[in-house]
Amino acid sequence: MNKTVVPAQRDRYRLRENDRRVLEVLEAAEGPLRAYELLDLLRCEGINGPPTVYRALARLTRSGLVHRIESMNAYIACRAPCSSGPPVLVICDQCGSTEELHEDIVIARLRRRARALGIELDRIYLELRGRCARCGTASE
Ligand SMILES: [Zn+2]
Ligand SMILES: [Zn+2]
Repeated sequence: MNKTVVPAQRDRYRLRENDRRVLEVLEAAEGPLRAYELLDLLRCEGINGPPTVYRALARLTRSGLVHRIESMNAYIACRAPCSSGPPVLVICDQCGSTEELHEDIVIARLRRRARALGIELDRIYLELRGRCARCGTASE
């Protein structure tokens, strides 16, 4: 294995202690976590202040190691750290399980079309909602 080191992976080596803890909790989680849920889980690790968690989340989100799910106001650890562009998050309405797709061509096209409308995109949030295989069979 001789993978190219992408920025997100490189950032991982330079994480502050608090950021690393927040990331570890998110990576161990079954699904997305809201900030207060994270805070609950981190309390036993000595992280008490909400601002500490919010600052860590802001840094992790900027570096691409964590994604914010806008429609749920929750966070997940990135599962596809090899990609650089914004992910398309595919979310189960029922259980919140979240996968990510990387559609760089689609995103490039959206950027071009927005530019044609005179808008340079700063942030892109793409979220697809549905039901995962597990929840789909469980309720029928
Ligand atoms: Zn990702
Ligand atoms: Zn589900």
